[in-house]
Amino acid sequence: MTSDDRDGWVRVRGARENNLANIDLDVPRDCMVAFTGISGSGKSSLAFGTLYAEAQRRYFESVAPYARRLLNQVGAPDVTDITGLPPAVALQQRRGAPSSRSSVGTITTLSNLLRMLYSRAGTYPAGVTHLSAEAFSPNTATGACPRCHGLGVVHDVTEDLLVPDASLSIRDGAIAAWPGAWQGANLKSIVNGLGIDTRAPWHTLSRKDRDWLLYTEEQPSVFIQPEEGRVDHGYNGKFWSARKHIMNVLSQSQSERMRERALRFVQSMTCPECGGSGLQANALSVTFAGLSIAELNAVPLTDLADRLREGMERADSESEGSEGNEVAHRIGDDVIARVDVLLDLGLGYLSLGRNSTTLSPGEAQRLRIATQLRSGLFGVVYVLDEPSAGLHPADAAPLLKVLDRLTASGNSLFVVEHDLDVIRRADWIVDIGPGAGEGGGQLVYSGPVDGLKDVPESVTGRYLFPQESRPTREVRSPESWVRLKKASLHNIRDLTVDFPLGVMTAVTGVSGSGKSTLVTHVLAEAVRAQLGAAADDAGDAADADDPRHDLTLEDTAGLDSFDRMVLVDQRPIGRTPRSNLATYTGMFDVVRKLFAATDEAHQRGYTASRFSFNVAGGRCETCQGEGFVSVELLFLPGTYAPCHTCHGARYNDETLEITYLGKTIADVLGMTVDTAADFFAESTSALRSLDTLRDVGLGYLRLGQPATELSGGEAQRIKLATELQRARRGHALYLLDEPTAGLHPSDTELLLAQLQRLVDAGNTVVLVEHDLATIAASDWVIDLGPSGGDQGGTIVATGTPREVAAGPGATAKYLSEWLA
Ligand code: ADP
Ligand code: ADP
Ligand code: ZN
Ligand code: ZN
Repeated sequence: MTSDDRDGWVRVRGARENNLANIDLDVPRDCMVAFTGISGSGKSSLAFGTLYAEAQRRYFESVAPYARRLLNQVGAPDVTDITGLPPAVALQQRRGAPSSRSSVGTITTLSNLLRMLYSRAGTYPAGVTHLSAEAFSPNTATGACPRCHGLGVVHDVTEDLLVPDASLSIRDGAIAAWPGAWQGANLKSIVNGLGIDTRAPWHTLSRKDRDWLLYTEEQPSVFIQPEEGRVDHGYNGKFWSARKHIMNVLSQSQSERMRERALRFVQSMTCPECGGSGLQANALSVTFAGLSIAELNAVPLTDLADRLREGMERADSESEGSEGNEVAHRIGDDVIARVDVLLDLGLGYLSLGRNSTTLSPGEAQRLRIATQLRSGLFGVVYVLDEPSAGLHPADAAPLLKVLDRLTASGNSLFVVEHDLDVIRRADWIVDIGPGAGEGGGQLVYSGPVDGLKDVPESVTGRYLFPQESRPTREVRSPESWVRLKKASLHNIRDLTVDFPLGVMTAVTGVSGSGKSTLVTHVLAEAVRAQLGAAADDAGDAADADDPRHDLTLEDTAGLDSFDRMVLVDQRPIGRTPRSNLATYTGMFDVVRKLFAATDEAHQRGYTASRFSFNVAGGRCETCQGEGFVSVELLFLPGTYAPCHTCHGARYNDETLEITYLGKTIADVLGMTVDTAADFFAESTSALRSLDTLRDVGLGYLRLGQPATELSGGEAQRIKLATELQRARRGHALYLLDEPTAGLHPSDTELLLAQLQRLVDAGNTVVLVEHDLATIAASDWVIDLGPSGGDQGGTIVATGTPREVAAGPGATAKYLSEWLA
């Protein structure tokens, strides 16, 4: 260890990653450091891209020297030197698709403990021998239900879906699930060869033939005679039943489009064999406190401790001093202690069995924070990404306490954060800026929080230490109302609720009170049912494949006021690096046409498709237009290295010979929105997209930035910008789930201005929000509560922000302070 390592400081020299302007800084260890700045200023480039990446690189170098060559390919962060850097653990918000096999129990590792508990201390019915802990896990070969392979859900085809029109003949496409084109014609010839009438209407075929065609596992080969205009030479064709074809596509196909098509013929249902638990019958017969492990997994965490205590008491009375009893106490006490932390973090409304795909990013991150508390690590630095995301102000205090415990046990915390209350509690603040992209990347301030008061160029300082009082605004009066009568879903039971039209409404309440349920499920579903196809969600339909989705609604009124619904959520704008900002907003189509219209492109006969990196022709074939190839590293999942043929350009050399105003198509994808807006000043249709992106504060993003690199908040704002650019007359309903997550207060202001513009144009906006500035800027508030889970789901207060601030409820206290 050098003296640097012992003096308690991490010293960074010459940080140049992304937009960082060769900055030097020293930050203290063993305390909480907040990294602040507006979106795109460079805080993540410093905290994650430099500090965490360097710690990660050193770690891999030390444990796996042979990986060095690959790591060099992936690239070390662009920094001259860092000293005093402890090993780092990143608890980032999830990006990309989580696995449907993980749950609250697996993320927190509490599932392991429960399995041991059931295995060693459970009550076994007569005839069932003691089972191993694996037998209680749906994710092991021993434990998984044979029918659903432990998933708890089965997907199967049904005749209604496979054959939507039974009056058609096979030749006319009765079996809609079969592939089209050549493969489909091939299957029809095979059926003909098997002696089944392909010209008769489907419903006239025998039940036996129909079932065989749809469901058989048999795959006979049939010699196909040459056919006029289709096949010149005879060949052997292999039969695929409709089910076998669909299941094959779902398990084998790499094409997202094919899979999506196949899913249209499949129904998901709770597995009838295991009731959705994913476990086998013998494991389900073992109980603790009278509950099977599946039942205990469904109990909210707030009740779990009580159930465990009850089970331990029972064990005491039945077999005082036995081995099982001792195990019950040891494991039970451990689980209770860990659950307490989750309760502190306001997550008591979750159950261990809750699937991770249904968790919000903020919930998932808090689960990982809680898990780390028990890891016993010390002397590491935790790098966190906006831990306050998704938290009501009332939930922020317990979070801070838990973070304090991490530092108290000898760790450092680097937190990228926007929430002013969290920032105020930090021991040290690193403010990056002053602007975004090229206008940022400078160290504006590094020091104790109070010192930021005297740094006029800091945007963060202006919000942290406001100089003037906030301007008041007139609230709008609703034109009319939408009523949902007796709605029930999740923790909402028989709730009747009125939403005002033509204004902006904020739905508030502590975590788990039912805000998302009410807005993105109940309201969205009701409007979707009314509008049918006109409800063009900017995201995919929410939990369309959740078999347990059981919304009930007695009656509705006023839904016909909307001619469109737009759900602007935080889901990624694409799941592959092939989609990006430019393709999603449609502006890339305009750009490709501009390139195709140049003289040189004309002469060579290049059309707009030549400039697409998604189809063969103009793209680089080594990386198939991705610009990257994936590098297999033993323990770094999905690591990418630049393509060695095009060096990340995505296109082949011929395509790159075409320039528009001196730039290649690859240069354009490398431009930020701000740069592109100047470059395309002459093209009104390109400008329309670019201007709306700047309006929502995304001027710093590069056009070609892959969808997989964007944060949830950025994805949401891109969706919003895309909507704004097509905003037309009429009356649309906009639904947003926590639109300010990931936003600096100054970016929140920009976003609010855009939302107000939508309302001024006659639309209705309903948002789920925790941010007080946004709640205060709304015309109407619906506050849910009183707390989370079973203790939530009712309306605690509703009215204008001032009315709600004066009423009861968890939000009133914070809102009244804000409005004062
Ligand atoms: P913040 O965390 O403050 O929002 P970032 O550190 O994410 O900002 O981004 C700072 C700048 O670096 C932005 O201009 C952004 O577009 C750019 N940037 C971010 N990630 C990359 C990347 N992988 N490659 C190139 N530029 C990037
Ligand atoms: P909020 O948005 O206020 O944080 P949610 O609407 O997400 O609250 O959750 C309300 C209640 O419904 C919680 O008890 C939560 O656990 C439950 N819940 C939410 N989504 C699901 C789901 N997909 N499946 C089962 N329960 C859910
Ligand atoms: Zn099953
Ligand atoms: Zn390439």
